[in-house]
Amino acid sequence: MRLVILGGPGAGKGTQARRLSKDLHIPLISTGDILREAIAAQTELGRQAKPYVEKGELVPDRTMIKFISNRLQMPDATSGWLLEGYPRTAFQAEELDFLLEELQQQLNWAIWLDVPEAVTIERCLGRARTDDRSEVIQRRIQLFYDRTMPMMEYYGWRQRLLKINGDQTPDLVQQEILAKLS
Ligand code: AMP
Repeated sequence: MRLVILGGPGAGKGTQARRLSKDLHIPLISTGDILREAIAAQTELGRQAKPYVEKGELVPDRTMIKFISNRLQMPDATSGWLLEGYPRTAFQAEELDFLLEELQQQLNWAIWLDVPEAVTIERCLGRARTDDRSEVIQRRIQLFYDRTMPMMEYYGWRQRLLKINGDQTPDLVQQEILAKLS
């Protein structure tokens, strides 16, 4: 199974991604976690990403596309994966399709955790992480609506979009995802 899980900041992507990866026995590839680790370890990827992640901006597409291309060709990713936080722009989504075509693979579903904007803001303010300063939060939310939302149309049009109500308890969100996948 090849899946991507999408949603704004605080939509519950991380929680659902971890559960789904365990339920379906597929590796979880979370670009946010990978970038935070790379920054802490001061790798080349981390050095490139740091100024963007700190401000809540998107890391440039070319850096992300190159990273994902390498990552999806690693041995553990041959028979399935769950991407969390990627793609984030329509351009990344198109490039992912080109890459999968080259690898002769297909995306099964793009899972969209849909949460009202007011809930997004409330959840974001309620969690403390170093990149969660209020102006950074606002910027991340704005980028989600400006850059990531248009991608839902892309997947919708390709009949790959699974829209899930993200404004429920984590257990209910998980149940809805599993029910819609089967
Ligand atoms: P996340 O934990 O998914 O919210 O990601 C944290 C930060 O990592 C984001 O605010 C971006 O700066 C960066 N990031 C993660 N995934 C991507 C991506 N697909 N494209 C660009 N930047 C990303």
